[in-house]
Amino acid sequence: MSEKRVYTFGNGKAEGKADMRNLLGGKGANLAEMNLIGVPVPPGFTITTDVCNEYYEIGKEQVVSLLKSDVEASVKHIETLMKSKFGDPINPLLVSVRSGARASMPGMMDTILNLGLNDTVVEGLAKKTGNERFAFDSYRRFVQMYGDVVLGMKPENKEDIDPFEAIIQKVKAQRGIKLDNEMTVDELKQLVKLFKEAIKTQTGKDFPTDPMEQLWGAICSVFDSWMNDRAILYRKMEGIPQEWGTAVNVQAMVFGNMGDTSATGVCFSRDAGNGENIFNGEYLVNAQGEDVVAGIRTPQQITKEGSLRWAKQQGIDEDTRAAKYPSMEECMPEVFKELDAIQNKLEKHYHDMQDMEFTVQDGKLWFLQTRNGKRTGTAMVKIAMDLLHEGEIDEKTALKRCEPNKLDELLHPVFDKETLTQAKVLTRGLPASPGAACGQIVFFADDATKWHDDGHQVIMVRIETSPEDLAGMSAAEGILTARGGMTSHAAVVARGMGKCCVSGAGAIVIDYKQRTLEIDGTILREGDYISLNGSTGEVYFGEVKTKPAEVTGDFAELMNLCNKYSKLVVRTNADTPHDAAVASNFGAVGIGLCRTEHMFFENEKIKAMREMILANNTEERERALDKLLPYQKQDFYGILKCMDGMPVNIRLLDPPLHEFVPHTIEGQQIMAEEMGVSVKFIQDRVNSLSEANPMLGLRGCRLGNTFPEITAMQTKAILGAAIQLKKEGFDPKPEIMVPLVGIVNELDIQEAIIRKTAQKLFEKEGLEIEFEVGTMIEIPRAALTADLIAKKAQYFSFGTNDLTQMTFGYSRDDIASFLPSYLEKKILDVDPFQVLDQDGVGQLIKTAVQKGRATRESLKCGICGEHGGEPSSVKFCHRVGLNYVSCSPFRVPIARLAAAQAAVEEC
Ligand code: PEP
Ligand code: MG
Repeated sequence: MSEKRVYTFGNGKAEGKADMRNLLGGKGANLAEMNLIGVPVPPGFTITTDVCNEYYEIGKEQVVSLLKSDVEASVKHIETLMKSKFGDPINPLLVSVRSGARASMPGMMDTILNLGLNDTVVEGLAKKTGNERFAFDSYRRFVQMYGDVVLGMKPENKEDIDPFEAIIQKVKAQRGIKLDNEMTVDELKQLVKLFKEAIKTQTGKDFPTDPMEQLWGAICSVFDSWMNDRAILYRKMEGIPQEWGTAVNVQAMVFGNMGDTSATGVCFSRDAGNGENIFNGEYLVNAQGEDVVAGIRTPQQITKEGSLRWAKQQGIDEDTRAAKYPSMEECMPEVFKELDAIQNKLEKHYHDMQDMEFTVQDGKLWFLQTRNGKRTGTAMVKIAMDLLHEGEIDEKTALKRCEPNKLDELLHPVFDKETLTQAKVLTRGLPASPGAACGQIVFFADDATKWHDDGHQVIMVRIETSPEDLAGMSAAEGILTARGGMTSHAAVVARGMGKCCVSGAGAIVIDYKQRTLEIDGTILREGDYISLNGSTGEVYFGEVKTKPAEVTGDFAELMNLCNKYSKLVVRTNADTPHDAAVASNFGAVGIGLCRTEHMFFENEKIKAMREMILANNTEERERALDKLLPYQKQDFYGILKCMDGMPVNIRLLDPPLHEFVPHTIEGQQIMAEEMGVSVKFIQDRVNSLSEANPMLGLRGCRLGNTFPEITAMQTKAILGAAIQLKKEGFDPKPEIMVPLVGIVNELDIQEAIIRKTAQKLFEKEGLEIEFEVGTMIEIPRAALTADLIAKKAQYFSFGTNDLTQMTFGYSRDDIASFLPSYLEKKILDVDPFQVLDQDGVGQLIKTAVQKGRATRESLKCGICGEHGGEPSSVKFCHRVGLNYVSCSPFRVPIARLAAAQAAVEEC
């Protein structure tokens, strides 16, 4: 823990710098850095993230006394640079107080602006600026914000109206006006008075007039907001640890609401939606920062090009655009030039796309924030590849810039171009976050979650979204808002989540009470289907068909780069030719696990399978197996053909037999008739197969060792299919894998059956096939005795689903009963069935690899449990020297990128 708790910045100097983001938070570190590179930033100071942890350890009073002298000295520092004084009635300094965590958490924590105002100071501000309206507008905003955030006036129930908003509505209604800026100065003064009365009535306390007292209240409430529900949920979704804490940034206020030569805005050095290298953003004249993101006023575009495009999307003609919504480039050309130059400088400095906030106060430009911009998966890949081509970053950095899990967005279906031409466009909005989405309309976040949990695909439709809507947005397929621009809450959060979003579709009229929306006379209700194209902003009537994604362009280039650096190769878990084809399209170079049991479930196959299970003796069993053989052979033929020339690892039958027999009386009756036996006979056999712990019972190689004829039949089917393919000119590469081995003898016997059956078949067919026999390592004993097992196994495949189950002693099927409580109590950080437990299960893998290779130097090792497609687990597999990972088809690109990153991170 650092002894220094407060870091100042201003006027081209700073005590911190960019690489101190862990201590100063992202915002604080970049405010310091911007000072150091000559970007105009209002002076201020940052209280460190360590202090946030102290706050929760030793409490408010103690932290305030520890900080007191540093904060007071830092306020003086701002006063000196701003040539004004905090609380001064003639020449007052006002400050903003904002959160700033290590990872950006947009809108999740609290912010207080215009702090330092009271009844005397406001008069001074009015005189100093010669703008009474501005002074009282700032004052009423401050009292409202402070009341809501620090004094806890914001209603807990989000259905209830904010008490300050209720007062504003009343004052406006009395005068019959609609907009805030139509209020007179006297009405603004009246608002302040009414706000304070409301605070006194509700909290029993007077609004604090001492600016220092206001400041301490604000600082503590930012720390408090680290633990609000929204922030906790966001951290959970993004995997941000609680111990990171938030910093607090206190900065001199600069005002975008001082009249028509003032403005405030948000801009991006590239397009966060599609990654195009186009400077873009939005601004509002005479406004404060939150007006842009709140979606209350329609923001204008920064560049002329952007403005023309926006007007086209909105169906606004050129005269109206130029008169009502001119770009900043047209309105404030000089400031625009400076803004453009600084955004270029910042992108070059950070070598990444920047998301920036600025304010223009009376013609002077100030930067309030810069950070690496959140972006969609598509933009992430394009920006990384473009920066590489531009020479800004090298190949390894380009690989590290891409987040493996975010590739998921590029793998989802897109609208089929052909079908789109037939689809009926309902309306248009802004292309806020790309992708195709289709679902049933819901209007509330809670409904989105509920409907989603019930198995529906939903589109959440809102006038605008707020941080309270986060869980609903996450559950929805897409988001549609009537208000708000490209930097509105909905747009920014959707892009961060990789969710399709169309924002600011102004023609939509939403009635929350009736749960309907109206577009030019067409009424749609909750539950009706609509489709969104987040890349063009189009909203379609009904369900529009989609087609699978393709690996082309930048994505294909990134994947090639992965191949250049990775040592691990990526296979797939696939049981059908279709899945195998999907995976091979995504770059899988073989099958790491083909689960044969899924092949037994269709009509005729399941009948023969049941006959086999219910057979009284070996003879009957063999007869049933003979029926199964052609089916199995056909299935293996399909898969081996589809993966021609690539290894296909086929696992022998694994699950307990009771999974295949009928458990309902109807099913048993049908079965009895088909087999010509009594229902009682069937029931007795079913009962005899039932086990107390089926996961630990008669399954895996225990089946093949109890009924060797099953292993023989499967071997005949696999190698028979391979022989047929070879005769047809293909190059099949089968591998036969024995599951659930714990003792080498189990494998020994299975291997002998496989080899003997193969030999007989080869003699009969007059053709030999090269094949390997390996085993799964999924029982801790197998890992610990891997040196013995490697004598018989040509390869190991780690079945980390079972290995996790048996290492922890957690049932794979029952963990849901205690996992949420374990995660909440921090007994576990993550679900070990999703993220490999490197300290426990991982150590068994490491030991098994070492012991196995001590016996058989060339032993090939892979993983085929669910962890094979999870980035941190893939990286572990690289570090312990596995040869491949195998995962479900849609995770193949993710695993390829994680494998390349693991190799690059090692250098
Ligand atoms: C495993 O146990 O990790 C595995 C891949 O096999 P299954 O999930 O089929 O038990
Ligand atoms: Mg298993």
